[in-house]
Amino acid sequence: MEFDAVYYELDALNYELGKLLQTKYANLPWVEIENHNFIPELAAADNRDFPKLKNHIIIGLRKTHKYVPNHKVSDWLVPYTSSGCKAMCLYCYLVCNYNKCAYLRLFVNREQMLDRLIKKANAAPIPQTFEIGSNSDLVLENTITDNLCYTIERFGREGRGHLTFPTKFDMVNPLLNLDHRGKTIFRMSVNPQDIIRRVELGTAPLHARIQALNNVANAGYPVGLLIAPVILLPDWERLYSELIDQLADELSETVKKTGFIEIILMTYSFVQNAINTAAFPQAVQLLNRETMTGRGRGKYCYRTDTRLVAETFLREKLSRRLGTMPILYIS
Ligand code: SF4
Repeated sequence: MEFDAVYYELDALNYELGKLLQTKYANLPWVEIENHNFIPELAAADNRDFPKLKNHIIIGLRKTHKYVPNHKVSDWLVPYTSSGCKAMCLYCYLVCNYNKCAYLRLFVNREQMLDRLIKKANAAPIPQTFEIGSNSDLVLENTITDNLCYTIERFGREGRGHLTFPTKFDMVNPLLNLDHRGKTIFRMSVNPQDIIRRVELGTAPLHARIQALNNVANAGYPVGLLIAPVILLPDWERLYSELIDQLADELSETVKKTGFIEIILMTYSFVQNAINTAAFPQAVQLLNRETMTGRGRGKYCYRTDTRLVAETFLREKLSRRLGTMPILYIS
């Protein structure tokens, strides 16, 4: 993965991973910063510079470790070893939180974060599931840090309950021979190839994602399929019908027999629209004022009647083509 500059907190270089990154990216300019949360020169950049900001890598320490209760596949959302990502999905919700500063930030204090997680997991009265990938894409991050391999094996040995994360990438080979002990639930996020090409800029193609999911399931990981976010472009019925046909044709029997499905319809925001309009003027327009409605704080979601049509369509098609995989929720 190519970067053009490293912004770093000085203290990060006292950690093993910080030192490793220092060697790995020794050929890049290194710029010392006070705090990864606010880098004045990057925060002041223009919206149209968003793709340029994504070429930077930020290295620091994660200082806040607040777990947020969740009620989907996991019980808790855990801030983990990275936030942001090098890819540029036009709907990426991290842009809502970080605005232009949704670039990749790596936190070098992984031992501290995993110690804490294992402690919480083992103290819970009943086994809990921890979502560790809600702030970034850990499969992509793993190609730089190996953090995911470290996490899966150590949680496998020491932790109780499950970890889980979604991904849009296919670099799963390093995960296949790990001693995961079935404690990590791998969820592959999919969309029609045409949407991946036009909207999920810089992520893996659909075919590669399906193969990666098959390989991970074959390696004994519990798996899920995340059809997300569903984007209702004018020809969405054709696109999602073809997607489900392709999934039915290419997913392995193991995934079909053991995997589950989650479906999330897209939400979009005023902030994303402003950045995309400036940075990607030729890109497909995701905001549709006819099918979408405001949902507070500058966010838009599909109207109830539109959602209902999409839900009915997806449920019907999935029950015909992938009927063995339970749909956990559509949100
Ligand atoms: S891969 Fe995930 S984290 Fe990265 S830009 Fe896309 S939605 Fe955001």
